[in-house]
Amino acid sequence: MNPFQYTRSSAASGAIQSLVKEPQAHFLAGGTNLIDLIKMGVLRPERLVDINALPLRGIEAIAGGLRIGALASNSEVADHPLVLQDYPLLAQAINAGASPQLRNMATVGGNIMQRTRCNYFFDTAMPCNKRSPGSGCGALDGYNRMHALFGASEKCIAVNPSDMNVALTALEAVVHVKGPKRDRKIAFSDFHRLPGDHPEKDNTLERTELIISVDLPANSFNRHVHYLKVRDRTSFAFALISVAAALDLEGDKIKGARLAMGGVAHKPWRLHGAEAFLLGKTSGEDVFRQAARIAMQGAKAYKYNQFKLTLAPNAILQALKTASSLG
Ligand code: SF4
Repeated sequence: MNPFQYTRSSAASGAIQSLVKEPQAHFLAGGTNLIDLIKMGVLRPERLVDINALPLRGIEAIAGGLRIGALASNSEVADHPLVLQDYPLLAQAINAGASPQLRNMATVGGNIMQRTRCNYFFDTAMPCNKRSPGSGCGALDGYNRMHALFGASEKCIAVNPSDMNVALTALEAVVHVKGPKRDRKIAFSDFHRLPGDHPEKDNTLERTELIISVDLPANSFNRHVHYLKVRDRTSFAFALISVAAALDLEGDKIKGARLAMGGVAHKPWRLHGAEAFLLGKTSGEDVFRQAARIAMQGAKAYKYNQFKLTLAPNAILQALKTASSLG
């Protein structure tokens, strides 16, 4: 591990200025991903700016929804009464991720920012365009079992590893950020990027911008929801495929649908086509199966992740069946 300087910041503006002044400085919150990256030599920061003293832990009702502070821990969010009551899909997704110990440390802002778990990204002896732009992609012709089905490029076929992000996509969250010159809001669908020619950029956040909160708009998806995660070990593993499914049902009639997948793309993957197909239909296995087929249009597998072409639509079908059967 490289030696680095450590600063504890008590004001957002001061923390941001530290990053403005030092190009190799990073914010430190829960550290559950960052410290691993430093230990493995993937990141070599010269300074860590600890932001844990900033007043960003609150979870509160706001006009038209819920505001979650960027430093709220994953456990605090998943256990919060308002989340359980109004956004149970988010609680399910968070509880599907990591271990209780990690969920106690990990913050919402950090979870949004977590890096891919592609093995070649973590192995500094291997080529990886995300870690070292221009070095190549070890996974493209390597062991790509965990990798993408949608939106990949020749430069990178990695997937976003977060469960929480899948639910936040389905719930149309909005990320509030503070920068050195201005504050801004980023729709969650615009926050994460596809790899294109610049896989080193995971998202659209500027390096000196700080996540302040994540807002969830009010919705009617609080009953028929299910987060399904398929993984190698139930105890602790990243998703091979995950599905966030939410239905607004009037009897059997589908008045609204939200669907997103994890483990399939460089960003959490919203299934707009399948959602549109479901609107106005009568819920049932046949309709769900057709929606899953639509969701898979355009999927492209690699040598070792062909199984995902079958696993993904089956997971969508199962998630929708479970969501519709609740309540
Ligand atoms: Fe790196 Fe992306 Fe290729 Fe993995 S898939 S080796 S993260 S460039």
